[in-house]
Amino acid sequence: MNKRPEFWQLPLDQLNRTEWEALCDNCARCCLHKFEDEDTEEVHYTDVVCDLLDQSNCHCTDYPNRQTRVPDCLQLSPDEPEVFRWLPDTCAYRLRSENKPLYDWHPLISGRSQSVEEAGISVSGQCVMESYIHPDEIELRHASWIECSTPTKRS
Ligand code: SF4
Ligand code: SF4
Repeated sequence: MNKRPEFWQLPLDQLNRTEWEALCDNCARCCLHKFEDEDTEEVHYTDVVCDLLDQSNCHCTDYPNRQTRVPDCLQLSPDEPEVFRWLPDTCAYRLRSENKPLYDWHPLISGRSQSVEEAGISVSGQCVMESYIHPDEIELRHASWIECSTPTKRS
């Protein structure tokens, strides 16, 4: 399927499969372990990332089988908006589900995939694989850089 001009400005439920996949900025923030505060319902990110992530390019190494191998891997669909709250507030899917524009560093706006890392949004170089961390310690590794690095400028 072809991508329409400026398809990222359309509502999520109007995107075709190709456009839907192209909306991802490959930041891999959604691949970090996260926890919900039971009192506030806030979602907190850690700097511990799923072992299936290739940190050199922020791609999943087994994307077709990711849900079988990692049961809590987020599956995104416009029909299940309740899942979007687990996404970082920089995520293109979350932004568009809230009818907000993409940030200027998004590759669809900048025209360059490197702009995600340059803006400090990519997890590349900022996280550690889960197999290196004791399970009891994961929740303690708060990723403050996620909350501190959110740029405000949008197109
Ligand atoms: S957080 Fe959103 S934009 Fe970033 S990799 Fe995950 S789904 Fe893609
Ligand atoms: S299975 Fe793949 S897409 Fe899912 S969290 Fe792990 S690396 Fe990310």
